[in-house]
Amino acid sequence: VNVEVLRFKDVAEEVLSFLHKEAEYRNIAIVMSIPENMPEFVSDRGKLQQIFLNLVNNAFQAMNDGGRLSISAARGEGDTLDFTVRDNGCGIPEADRKRIFEPFFSTKKKTGGTGLGLSITYGLVQELGGSMAVESEVGKGTAFTITLPLKAPVT
Ligand code: ADP
Ligand code: MG
Repeated sequence: VNVEVLRFKDVAEEVLSFLHKEAEYRNIAIVMSIPENMPEFVSDRGKLQQIFLNLVNNAFQAMNDGGRLSISAARGEGDTLDFTVRDNGCGIPEADRKRIFEPFFSTKKKTGGTGLGLSITYGLVQELGGSMAVESEVGKGTAFTITLPLKAPVT
């Protein structure tokens, strides 16, 4: 882990700056709600970018007819930085939800999905000492919440 002092909002904006055109093309509105007084934290920028990008890519792909991507963040209990990537897309059926973190599990094989995004994301979150959770309702949307320690473990 290559640690530096980060602000979540900066990292999120860096990643989204490459995606605004695609969001426009896909008719997706991006809404960020990140409080001004978020603590800085110590973590690996590259890994955090990859985690965030994977979640946003999946969210985009879940909103075929356009929609809303909501990014929120908060300081969690016990010195954590918690952020949520929420879409109002297709949702994940219960039976799939148990398998989405498995390598090569994909419902997008026809459109070139590799099924590696979430398994890689899960591994990166672990490396940063964090955890992740998913909430989803078919036809309503999906929210992935990542909880990271304010100081990533030095490994
Ligand atoms: P891929 O995107 O290549 O299919 P991932 O590991 O990124 O692989 O995701 C695995 C599966 O989890 C996807 O194929 C999809 O079925 C489901 N999934 C992940 N994120 C979302 C989301 N935001 N909305 C709906 N389904 C999702
Ligand atoms: Mg993916």
